[in-house]
Amino acid sequence: MFETVLIANRGEIALRVVRACKALGLRTVAVHSEADANLRHIALADQAICIGAAPSSKSYLQKGEIILAARLTGAGAIHPGYGFLSESADFAEMVENAGITFIGPSSAAIRLMGDKVSAKQAMTRSGVPCVPGSDGELPEDSDAIAEIGKRVGYPLIVKAAGGGGGRGMRIVRAPSDLLQAVAMTREEARRAFGNPSVYAERFLETPRHVEIQVLADTHGNAVWLGERDCSMQRRNQKIIEESPAPGIERTEIARIGELCAKACVDVGYTGAGTFEFLYENGAFYFIEMNTRVQVEHPVTELVTGVDIVAEQLRIALGEPLSMTQADIRFEGHAIECRLNAENPWTFAPSPGQVTDWIAPGGPGVRVESHMYVGYTIPPNYDSLIGKLLAHGANREQAVARMRVALDEISVKGIDTTVPLHRALMQEHGFWKGGFDIHHLERLIDAGALSGVKA
Ligand code: ADP
Repeated sequence: MFETVLIANRGEIALRVVRACKALGLRTVAVHSEADANLRHIALADQAICIGAAPSSKSYLQKGEIILAARLTGAGAIHPGYGFLSESADFAEMVENAGITFIGPSSAAIRLMGDKVSAKQAMTRSGVPCVPGSDGELPEDSDAIAEIGKRVGYPLIVKAAGGGGGRGMRIVRAPSDLLQAVAMTREEARRAFGNPSVYAERFLETPRHVEIQVLADTHGNAVWLGERDCSMQRRNQKIIEESPAPGIERTEIARIGELCAKACVDVGYTGAGTFEFLYENGAFYFIEMNTRVQVEHPVTELVTGVDIVAEQLRIALGEPLSMTQADIRFEGHAIECRLNAENPWTFAPSPGQVTDWIAPGGPGVRVESHMYVGYTIPPNYDSLIGKLLAHGANREQAVARMRVALDEISVKGIDTTVPLHRALMQEHGFWKGGFDIHHLERLIDAGALSGVKA
């Protein structure tokens, strides 16, 4: 068991983890790069260590340095947050071998679910519906590939088994383009992920992105905490998330949720996790699992009242889940707007000093951010500066509260996505709900939000 947790991350999620640790009486160690000495969670942690230079390859991705820092500070556990090393099975294995608790699933479970081919195969065995496609990786033989393409049907998408971050994917609309697309995706995957394995699946033209949050403990218990609709995306990056997903039958969500919880038990998955699905014409299709806490986890916390990060810590401490499925109630509607230091219309990054920061408040409003006046956002990392959430008795009230909160928030010195969110809260398609994952790009292309065409 452990009393001290090292947080191998930065920004808002590091702050979120420090808060959860403190609430459970756990000691905290922050590790940071040379560019990050002024991060807010560092001042709140019991101890802090600089582990390297600003580029994440020299600090937050330095597996050995992080484990050394845990040893030096007596940290018995490492929380990886999201991004960085959070889904590295190799890192989780090194942590396990060092006798330190990795706050997440076992390295074996990360490896199984991190490879999209083996993940899909495991999910199919558990009865979770997947996008129809090649059963397993594509062979070398051209004729065999063409045959599989014919069976899957067009359009199809060629995807890297080890892909992530929206990279390593190619849409193929005609059989004559298949072989070249496979060769190019293979080469890209080999270079980017060190794994040339690729597979093919049906390309869904206008799906929604609906995901299921799960928690599983080390005693064989697993629960599902409802869904999040994350269809408001740009270049596969989520911009707004909400729960419940508008217009989907609760019985269908429950059916899929139960399958996800069962799949966790089947594959020996422990900790928090998310099953990502595409949803089209009333059907769910599993695409991948995220074996870590997600940016949008507070959406689920608002509708269920469950503290997901605290549950991660309790599961890692070997405790049973603090609730059964029957205890979980879904109340009202929650929406999250991601705040990024970016130009709201061109999405160009906008690092620099924050000269004003006024966070909104009031009933049902939650802000997760490491910003403060005078803080300088370094150019080296993801542009997420925080998350603004609103919860209401229903979707209308949640949207109304979000609009008030977006009017109230003030961030100066840098560009942020706040004006984009203000525009989206007034947009007809958003108001109706249930739009597909291309909705935002269609609006941007038409210049419908800013008056400026992309
Ligand atoms: P990554 O790990 O890179 O995020 P995913 O498998 O989650 O990759 O896919 C990322 C995004 O790519 C999805 O959210 C969706 O927008 C698109 N996508 C992936 N598979 C399909 C598919 N079969 N049909 C249509 N779009 C897809």
